[in-house]
Amino acid sequence: MRDVLITVLYMVSAVLFIRGIKLLGKADTARKGNALSAVGMLIAVVTVLFEKQVMDAGAMSPGQGDLLTERYLGSIIGAVWAKKVEMTGMPQLVALFNGFGGLSSLLVALAQYANARNDNADAVPFEGVTLGLTVAIGAIAFTGSVVAWGKLSGKMFKKSVTIPAKNALNAVLAIAGLAGVCLYAFSGSNTQLGFIGIIAVTAAYLILGFTMVVTIGGGDMPVIISLLNAFSGLAAAFAGLALNNSVLVVSGCLVGTSGLILTLIMCKAMNRTLYALLFSSFGASKSKSAAGSGKEPKSMSVEDAYLILEAASSVVFIPGYGMAVAQAQHAVKELCDKLEENGAEVSFAIHPVAGRMPGHMNVLLAEANVPYEQLKTADEMNPQMPNTDVAIVIGANDVVNPAAQTDESSPLYGMPIINAYEARTVFVLKRGKGAGFSGVENPLFTNDNTIMIYGDAKQTVSSLVSEFDDK
Ligand code: NDP
Repeated sequence: MRDVLITVLYMVSAVLFIRGIKLLGKADTARKGNALSAVGMLIAVVTVLFEKQVMDAGAMSPGQGDLLTERYLGSIIGAVWAKKVEMTGMPQLVALFNGFGGLSSLLVALAQYANARNDNADAVPFEGVTLGLTVAIGAIAFTGSVVAWGKLSGKMFKKSVTIPAKNALNAVLAIAGLAGVCLYAFSGSNTQLGFIGIIAVTAAYLILGFTMVVTIGGGDMPVIISLLNAFSGLAAAFAGLALNNSVLVVSGCLVGTSGLILTLIMCKAMNRTLYALLFSSFGASKSKSAAGSGKEPKSMSVEDAYLILEAASSVVFIPGYGMAVAQAQHAVKELCDKLEENGAEVSFAIHPVAGRMPGHMNVLLAEANVPYEQLKTADEMNPQMPNTDVAIVIGANDVVNPAAQTDESSPLYGMPIINAYEARTVFVLKRGKGAGFSGVENPLFTNDNTIMIYGDAKQTVSSLVSEFDDK
């Protein structure tokens, strides 16, 4: 009876995960999807505690009591952290969560190995391979995600890092780790050989996670984060196989496959193959970096910019990371309404990697009630750019950098962009001369048709709204 109940509860949580992920696919059902998945996770956690008899009254050993305390502590830390984090801090938080996912799978697998060793159990090939792969993928997801967190938060590896003979080094590490998996899986009763195998795979893949991600920057960063997310899911799925836990297999497969699908979608949107992503970073080998043209950008006051906007009949907003920093989305919606009341046709051109996480701009603009139909992809908007009166670039930089199309030495070369430079007039709203995530200069700013409006994006947009109100 107990076993049946446990199986049913695992099935219920798996169904909630699947339904939750389906609902997450649409903006208007995403909150419900998130809530359903959270309930599924709660049921899964409680069922594990029940299955392992941690919840049974009177059956709690001191160690199991600690487990419950840690669970409550973890839940409280997670809840406070999620509540406190700023929207601009979400990407690095998500990267860290991927890392924790990988680390927990790695630790589960190592604990499983230690238990088997204490029981003097012989290594069995199938279980040995799943355990070894859990260690490998968990380790790569852990160090890779920590490096991604460091890069996104600006706390580590701010400058681009190159590793001589990176591909050869990564290949050696990957092969050494896989050899370690085989050594462990086929070590039978030879515990020393098994130990060497486990140490080899752990060390090799911890280093591989670092070397693989540390050299990546610019347009490749979002794609690698999505791949790390897939790795953390796959590690959990393998851990589920090693532990014979069905809900871990289901949830791990869901995260792993959805992460892989997102990675492939982003690769396509960025004109990249998975091979090129892992083995040749965007322009990394020839990063002379775009030299300045020597021209100074032209700037304009909000009052003068209003006169141009007031006469425009088609306007395209191109939001980027700076809009998230300034939290300008509500002001942008107000300006959009004013322009439409004034008879202009308004659209939003959303680049697949604008901001710092997939769908970053969509989430912010949805929060400000910008209709989803008004958000257009780069492919939809680029053909219309030459007929656009004013393109308003709000805190975007890399995603409108024409060097991606014209300068082979640029680290952005080959990345698709939104062709803001083709609009009749381009307003660029930013605070000063700060570079984008890739750190390269943007020749768009010195084009003849580009006008800079310096200042915090929210303040500038709000001032433009006030100009419409005053007239
Ligand atoms: P960028 O990072 O290229 O540029 C942001 C610009 O915003 C800066 O130049 C900055 O200039 C300006 N800015 C910052 N704060 C404000 C503010 N308060 N008001 C006005 N402007 C501000 O952003 P993009 O969105 O164009 O490009 C995204 C980049 O991030 C790409 O390189 C992408 O590969 C990378 N990336 C994306 C991820 C994703 O999943 N979307 C994940 C990881 C990386 P100034 O300081 O002068 O104001």
